Amino acid sequence: MSTLKQRLENRVKDTTRWETRRQLGADGPNMENLWVLACMDERMSVDEALGIHADSGVGGGDAHLFRNAGGIVTDDAIRSAMLTINFFGTTEIVVVQHTGCGMLSANGHDLEAALRGKGIDLDNIPIDPSLPELSLDSGAFAKWIGMMDDVDKTCIKCVDQLLNHPLIPDDITISGWVWETEFRRLRAPDVNAATRAVTQATTASMGVKGDQPPRWS
Ligand SMILES: [Zn+2]
Repeated sequence: MSTLKQRLENRVKDTTRWETRRQLGADGPNMENLWVLACMDERMSVDEALGIHADSGVGGGDAHLFRNAGGIVTDDAIRSAMLTINFFGTTEIVVVQHTGCGMLSANGHDLEAALRGKGIDLDNIPIDPSLPELSLDSGAFAKWIGMMDDVDKTCIKCVDQLLNHPLIPDDITISGWVWETEFRRLRAPDVNAATRAVTQATTASMGVKGDQPPRWS
């Protein structure tokens, strides 16, 4: 049985360590040595989806959390992943995207046209105002937006991009997941449209053949 004095000493030590984590470099990682790339969608709680405490108001600290539109690999996602993995003790990446994503809701070319319709010159847009050398070629804007055709395919692609990026070491564990907004559940990305969102609502889904004795018809 520890004394209150000992418990308070440990608590103060833990608090100091929490406050000074970033000064400790790789010796001061977050709780799960984890970097999460997630969509910014307000309906997806990263904590709920992954069963961690990354964005909790209280008691978080499990992960470095990066959210953008779609949860896709962009230059700033690479920048953030590179920093936490190479300098802050992170050893794992989890990508989490979701069904019903706004990035599925329009075509990138239509969004470009809408912005041009507002009189915006998209051929001369500073995408990083402090870094003019990071620029888009003329005509690249619609691609840069990163709209998706299929969230599962995009999720798999993003994992591949991270696996193959020169700033991400080969020994980092990387996985991608899809949060089903409709059902509030997580699943692996699946490019087979027939199997990826099947609920067990029929006998066929349970492997049962033939009709039941007549009662419901
Ligand atoms: Zn989304």
